[in-house]
Amino acid sequence: MLKLAGVKTYYGNIQALKGIDIEISQGEIITLIGANGAGKSTTLMSICGIVPPRSGSITFEGRPIHDMKPNDIVRLGICQVPEGRRIFPFLTVIENLDMGSFLRNDKADVKRDLDYVLTLFPILAERRNQAGGTLSGGEQQMLAISRALMARPRLLLLDEPSLGLAPLVVRQIFAIIRKINQEQKTTIFLVEQNANLALKAAHRGYVMENGRITLADLTVNLLANEAVRKAYLGI
Ligand code: ATP
Repeated sequence: MLKLAGVKTYYGNIQALKGIDIEISQGEIITLIGANGAGKSTTLMSICGIVPPRSGSITFEGRPIHDMKPNDIVRLGICQVPEGRRIFPFLTVIENLDMGSFLRNDKADVKRDLDYVLTLFPILAERRNQAGGTLSGGEQQMLAISRALMARPRLLLLDEPSLGLAPLVVRQIFAIIRKINQEQKTTIFLVEQNANLALKAAHRGYVMENGRITLADLTVNLLANEAVRKAYLGI
């Protein structure tokens, strides 16, 4: 479904991605783990066209997207939930969700998807007329995921959904991520510093260090890998 080949991305003179290869098949949950500053967010930014690669290629369902604009990439069915959630703080919950479906014309399906996200996260239904900025961190993460789902993505990119949240809320959110993958058949690319949770949620994983992919394997194997256990799982 998605293929990155030899992707190199820069911020001015700083090279953040040093030629990375990643492949994601339809229906998978794939995780990318790595330390602070390894290049995980940059990988997502490159896929979305926000920080396009300087060389290499990114193809989505066989079509090159590395030269496309972010809004055209969203139209193809790729949607990102950014790190730090970035909901619209002064818009209500419902208005935030409306923004997610901004590019869609299929009104009846939009209504069905709205009902779906509100059953997925009943707390958002309760808080539907509350300003986004007044929600708790966990609720804002739920809203950010729901807003992305309102774009009806086929590939959902999640940047550190666990960041700054209490363990119980994180477990809830990861359970919903798996549910979305199973019920909606949404393919998920999950970037996380919380390697333990991410490796348990995903089917396959990539490990990134200093802008390079250093390991790629089934998550069961990564969880058993001595180097991964030492560096990322603290075991
Ligand atoms: P974190 O988990 O802390 O978000 P990360 O693995 O997502 O880390 P990136 O944010 O992708 O890492 O950063 C990769 C490298 O690119 C780092 O060295 C970082 O300092 C650099 N970088 C990121 N954003 C910018 C920017 N806007 N300008 C310059 N350098 C940047």
